[in-house]
Formats: sequence, structure tokens, C-alpha cells
Amino acid sequence: METAGPASPIAYWLRRYFQVLWEPRSYLNALYLVTALPLALMYASTLLVGSILGALGTFFLVGIVLLLVVLVAAWLFAILERELAIVLLGAKVPPLALPDQEILTPWKMLVRHLQRGTTWRSLAFLLVKLPFGLFATIFALGVLTPCLAGIFVPFGDLASSGPRPSVITQLIVPGIPAVLGLALALHVLNAIGRAWGRFAADMLGVSPEQHQLWEARRRAELADRSRRELIMNVSHELRTPIATIQAHLDSLLLPDQERLSDEELQRRLRVTAAETRRLADLTEDLLMLARADAHELRVANRPVELAPIVGQLAQSMAPLARQQRKVTLEEPAVPEGLVAVADPDRLSQVLSNLVRNAINYTPEGGVVSIRVEGKGNDHVQIAIADTGIGIAAADLEHIFERFYRADGSRARVTGGFGLGLAIGRELVEAMGGTLTATSEPGLGSTFWITLRATPAPAR
Ligand code: ADP
Repeated sequence: METAGPASPIAYWLRRYFQVLWEPRSYLNALYLVTALPLALMYASTLLVGSILGALGTFFLVGIVLLLVVLVAAWLFAILERELAIVLLGAKVPPLALPDQEILTPWKMLVRHLQRGTTWRSLAFLLVKLPFGLFATIFALGVLTPCLAGIFVPFGDLASSGPRPSVITQLIVPGIPAVLGLALALHVLNAIGRAWGRFAADMLGVSPEQHQLWEARRRAELADRSRRELIMNVSHELRTPIATIQAHLDSLLLPDQERLSDEELQRRLRVTAAETRRLADLTEDLLMLARADAHELRVANRPVELAPIVGQLAQSMAPLARQQRKVTLEEPAVPEGLVAVADPDRLSQVLSNLVRNAINYTPEGGVVSIRVEGKGNDHVQIAIADTGIGIAAADLEHIFERFYRADGSRARVTGGFGLGLAIGRELVEAMGGTLTATSEPGLGSTFWITLRATPAPAR
């Protein structure tokens, strides 16, 4: 087997040293530091002048209004600073405040604002930014200006005086130390920016404990809502088959049922049996989703050769596709020896659901194909493509959601509950893979299963 030899330590350190030059973060960071002083001056002057004038005028109403304006301005500056820290310094800053659970009166809002830790911490941050800005802006300009001048001034000279025989030396002699210096300056400025970004995260965001508590509450609310939706959806789905079964059984129990022809009797029993099967399928699907939610969806992953699985599936479904839907299921092209990590039974289940969908959503004369190919060294991809009705972009992002049907009335004809793709995705993810879809409305859809590959066992 071929192994890459270790890169020489000198090359490694050189690359690390010069990497800052082409990392956008270095320049965003430098921009933050260069603009720190003007922004800090604006914050400090607005807040100090506003507070002093407000304090002096407290006896009159105008002073209190001014103090309120200062409070609002400080909050807006804090929001701006938080955004700058996130965008320019790449800092991970929690939200400044967590959303209120109830609707508040303006007075309560003010009291809550004054009680918030971040109100006072962010105010302190804005004031501390003045000495920091004084240092950061002067330092950043001091180290960047000579380096940038060393790189760009010779180009200016060259442009004004025209090329001379010594053009190379004219550019390179000041250029090399300037580039070396610029990389060093960016390293130092990055370190300052990182430290200041951590400080900003502490001062401009709610405490991590508060944030975690809020996140947990939000997730619990979401889970509660999705449980309520699930109950509603399930009740809705149960209603139709149960009503059909009930109506048919009732009609069979009527005293005058002997008037029914044998044919009609058979038809009603067949409908009842089909609806009962649908109910059993729905129960199975729901059980599987419940297992997935409880992280109890067990898949027995092992190396699985794909050619036999896909071949058998196509063989068993092609006649049905042809007879019932007049759709051609092409013989799949599977390169020999492609082995994926999967649970063979579950994979067959997902594939058969995708192929059945492809057949159902393809009009007469259409074609469904299954392609399997290696993707890079360590993945395999199975594509199930059809020339069917396709899926609109707005639906495409929802079709893997539970009970979602791109078009309720149309999908109802196919007898599905809108759970097949949701289950398919859960199963493929449990196998360590992904299930996605692309579609061109009117032209067809392709569903992609990507699985981890493993080398074919030696025979
Ligand atoms: P269903 O049992 O309703 O088919 P699925 O979860 O399998 O549920 O699919 C969800 C929805 O996605 C379907 O109702 C259908 O609108 C759409 N869909 C799935 N596969 C295809 C396809 N091959 N072509 C067009 N639409 C599809």
C-alpha cells in the first residue's frame, strides 16, 4: 500500500507561518482592530456626554428622557459590537438577551433590562473598548503600514518611473522582508483579536448556563409541539381507513345484505381487507419512527455486496411496473465488487420504497433506473432515477418530513401516508449514510443513497 511520507518539519512550519497571508480571517481581524479606536470614541463620547447631560437635567423630564436614550444607544452599540465580534473576529458570542416568555409592558421591559447582567457588562465593554481601541488601532496601523508600504510602494514607483533594468531587485529587495513582516504582524494581530473576541463573548452574551437552560426549554417546547402534531396527523390518517372498514362491515351486517350480489360482497370484503392492511402498515411505520426517536432503531451493519441486492430488487419489481403502470424498470448497471456498510434487509426495504415511489409517480411509458457507483475511495452511491412528474422545489425540502405529501389528493391515490421517505432517511442514517433527492418538475426525480464503502472481501 502506498503511504504518504511525513512532510518535512521546515515545510510544515513555513506553511503555517505564511498561511495567515491568504486566510480572510486575518484581514477581517485586522479590520476590527484598525477600526476599534474610532468606534470606541463614538461609543464613549455618546454615552458620556448623554449621561452627563441627562444627570444634569434629571430635575426636568428632559434629563430622564436623555438617560433613556443613552440606555437605548448603549444597547444598540452592544448589538453592533456583538455582530462585529462574530463576523470580524469569528468569536462565538451567545445572544445578548434571551427572548421573554410573556408580553411585557414598557415599564416592565425597562425594569427587566436594568436587571439584566448583560446590560451592565456590555456597557462596561463599550467603555473598556476605548483604552483597548487606543492600543489596538495604533499598534495595528504601526505594524501593518510599513509592511504594506514595503510591498506596494515599489509597484507605484515602477508605474510612475517605468520599468528599469533593475526591476526585479527594485520589487524583491523591499518585498521579501515586507511579506515576512506582514505574516508576523498578522499572527500577532490574530492573537490579539482572538483574546479580545473571548473577552467580547464573556461581556456581550448571556452566561453559558443561562443559554443552555433556554436551549433546553426551547427544545422541550419543540418536541412537545411535534408530539402534538404527530397525534393530530395519526388521528387524521386513522380516520379514513377506520371509517371505510366500519361502513363496509356495517353494510355487511345489515339485515337486507342477502340482496348483495356475491361480486359486491367480495368487493366490500376486499376493500375491508386492504384498509386493514393499510392500518397494519401505518402501525408498523409509526412503531419504527418511535424507535428512531428513542434511538432504538437497530440496524445490523455489515459489508454488503450491492450487485445481488439491487439486481434481485429490480427483477422482482420490473414485471409489476410493466403490468400495473406501464413503466419500464431498467436493468441496473452495478459494477461488480462494490461493497457497502449496510444492513441488507433494511437497505432492501429503503430501496424498494424508493423504487415503488418512482414507479408510482411516473406516468405510463416512463422509465425508472437504478445506478450504483463508487464515490471516491470510501463511499458508494445508489441513484434511483425516474422520468416522472418530479417534485416542486418548495416541496423538495419537506418530502423527508413525517406525513408530508407533495400533493395530498394526488398522493392519496397511491395509498401512502407520507412516512416512507422519513423512515428511509432514518434507516439510511442509522447505517451511517445519507438519503437526499434532486428533482426537475415535469422531468423526473432522483433519490441518492450514499453509504460508506468497504473493500470487497478477497475470494
Ligand atoms: P408516500 O407514501 O406518500 O409516497 P413518501 O414519504 O414515500 O410518502 O413520499 C413523500 C412524498 O414525496 C410523496 O407523497 C410524493 O409527493 C413525493 N415523492 C416521493 N417520491 C417521489 C417521486 N419519485 N416522484 C415524485 N414525487 C415523489
